[in-house]
Amino acid sequence: MSSDPVAKWEVFVRNRYWDELLELADSYPERRSLLISFSDLDRYDPEFADDLLENPDPALDAAGTALLEIDLPIDVVLEEAHVRIVELPQRFNTSELRSDQIGKMIAIDGLVRTVTEVRPKINSAAFECQRCGHLFYKEQTSSKFQEPYDCPNEACDRRGPFKLLLSKSRFVDAQNVRIQESPEDLRGGAQPQTLDVQLEDDMAGQIYPGDRVILNGILRSYQRTTQTGKSTYFDLYLDGNSMEMTEQEFEEIEISPEDKKIILDLSKNPEIYDEIKRSIAPSIYGYDDVKEALALQLFSGFAKALPDGTRIRGDIHILLVGDPGIAKSQLLRYISKLSPRGIYTSGKSSTAAGLTATAVKDELGDGRWTIEAGALVLADKGIAAVDEMDKMRKEDRSALHEAMEQQTISVAKAGVMATLKSRCALLAAANPKYGRFDKYEPVAQQINLSPALMSRFDLIFVLTDDPNDQRDSAIAGHILQSNYAGELSLQDGVSQDEIDLAMKVIQPAIEPELLRKYIAYARKNIFPTLTEEVKDQLKSYYVNLRKQGADSDKPVPVTARQLEALIRLSEASSRLRLRNEITLEDGERVIRIVESCLRQVGVDPETGLFDADVIATGISKSTRDKTRLIKDLIREVCTEHQGSAPVEEVLERAEEQGIDRHRAEDIIGRMRLYGEIIEPRNGFLKIP
Ligand code: ADP
Ligand code: MG
Repeated sequence: MSSDPVAKWEVFVRNRYWDELLELADSYPERRSLLISFSDLDRYDPEFADDLLENPDPALDAAGTALLEIDLPIDVVLEEAHVRIVELPQRFNTSELRSDQIGKMIAIDGLVRTVTEVRPKINSAAFECQRCGHLFYKEQTSSKFQEPYDCPNEACDRRGPFKLLLSKSRFVDAQNVRIQESPEDLRGGAQPQTLDVQLEDDMAGQIYPGDRVILNGILRSYQRTTQTGKSTYFDLYLDGNSMEMTEQEFEEIEISPEDKKIILDLSKNPEIYDEIKRSIAPSIYGYDDVKEALALQLFSGFAKALPDGTRIRGDIHILLVGDPGIAKSQLLRYISKLSPRGIYTSGKSSTAAGLTATAVKDELGDGRWTIEAGALVLADKGIAAVDEMDKMRKEDRSALHEAMEQQTISVAKAGVMATLKSRCALLAAANPKYGRFDKYEPVAQQINLSPALMSRFDLIFVLTDDPNDQRDSAIAGHILQSNYAGELSLQDGVSQDEIDLAMKVIQPAIEPELLRKYIAYARKNIFPTLTEEVKDQLKSYYVNLRKQGADSDKPVPVTARQLEALIRLSEASSRLRLRNEITLEDGERVIRIVESCLRQVGVDPETGLFDADVIATGISKSTRDKTRLIKDLIREVCTEHQGSAPVEEVLERAEEQGIDRHRAEDIIGRMRLYGEIIEPRNGFLKIP
């Protein structure tokens, strides 16, 4: 079949894409692209379609010419229109590109990491010969600006000088984007590979950092240059032809009518709460309360736009603080896998963008400034699981306030101003500064997060690793059993039944695939409202909390944020049962969860009473009083001894004042840790 490719395109478009072409002609030049599905072309003429993949440049040129030549019933010329091919048969990751793909049309699947500003790029430069006045055009085909060598006017033929006429030149909007492999495609620990993509005209300015896309285009290469000249190595980039959004949010998961029936049935199960709890990280033993909270985080409250323009977030932020080795990281990983657009990252992330975003001067846009998205942007509309949050960078620390509450991240640097969206729920884990958790020390200080940041979490769980025979042996049994089940599945000659039996303890009650659909259904369809009773219930709980704070003589710790948290959580709780009304049962549930968290964080470890000061300032009043008292004692004894104070004597006096020995030793130990007192020699103390 050696017929003229232009004619072939004409026939194809007339036959299969006539309506689309008319639509395009109708809205031209606002719309300039005719999208053609590769499979349609393939069905029409497989050989022709193959040729498009193998030799895309002439094929696409022919397609463009065909658009111009087709007789249209409307009086327009589709001069600047593009044929864009979508749904290519095979998609590649950025790390799968090889040299034999150069020059071919391919589809790349990935996550947008950075985008440059959209800027005009000269396509066709108009020059005027300054000698003879001849006006001519020079097409600009490469990234390097090409100037004329001599005047094309034969009568002149001189070598200029030439003047570039901007007003007569043709420009096109252009943008460079860099995509990387999606995190879920990365094999453990591998560095994501990136690929730069050039987008022009109506494709520029369409995608943002964090978007998951398929970019179709022609893979091209250019020679690297080093300081010593041209290198034998080449770099790759994609000359973009079309893009397809692939981003899947919870809301976008497809739910078939059969799925819907299963979901509705499931929601009527009176045990649904337990079932879902048992479906979250089943390989991890215990943590019922944490798993319950994680379930609520997945179902999420919903964002509300108020008439005055403010927006209240619906995403639930959760912080897990605790001793090392208690499966915090495991929980985070599990959730980030379960949630669409879930991202797992560490606070000390290696990229420049870190958790939030940054503007970087980038080689990809001729040294233009580009915005690079960090974890919270990449997880937009999903869940960002941030491990070792205590180790995050200073820049992130301040940007996080805005990111968590307003759910935007503003970048203003070197003239680049951008506001990125970070509408994700944050699930963070933090290890205590000194390795292990100190019960007498306020949480905020031990994890190196400011109270302002802490107050943005809806729930904070403190998980300690206290030895407890019963629990320890249960965990051990659980871990041994999961490992055993894993071993069995690798053995020959073991029947599936035996494996299933062994796996039983770590089997989720609801399969992850179904759970995702269930959550997606709830998030898409269920928007429950508070009933009057629940409003009263939450209000009185909140007012009570405030009162407890007001009774102590220090600032009130519980802010309106906690009330918003209660509302979000009860919305999630109601969604979990697919109910459109928030009931007292939901209210009770979330009050129980919030209460247990507040107690862990805000309880004075000495008196066991809820202490306002613990959250507000990070130190409980009684601890602060005792610390001050002991410091005074040390000073006193120092003066008496005209030097340093013997520990023994300090402890005795503390005991006289009603602080038992054990407690006093604790407080002294901590003061030493913070450098408030020093031990010049063994058994003696001094205030520096
Ligand atoms: P962390 O991040 O808290 O330091 P990890 O998530 O790295 O801890 O967990 C360490 C290991 O201990 C993991 O392999 C985890 O599976 C195991 N582990 C700890 N606690 C439990 C538990 N309750 N149930 C099952 N496994 C556990
Ligand atoms: Mg860890």
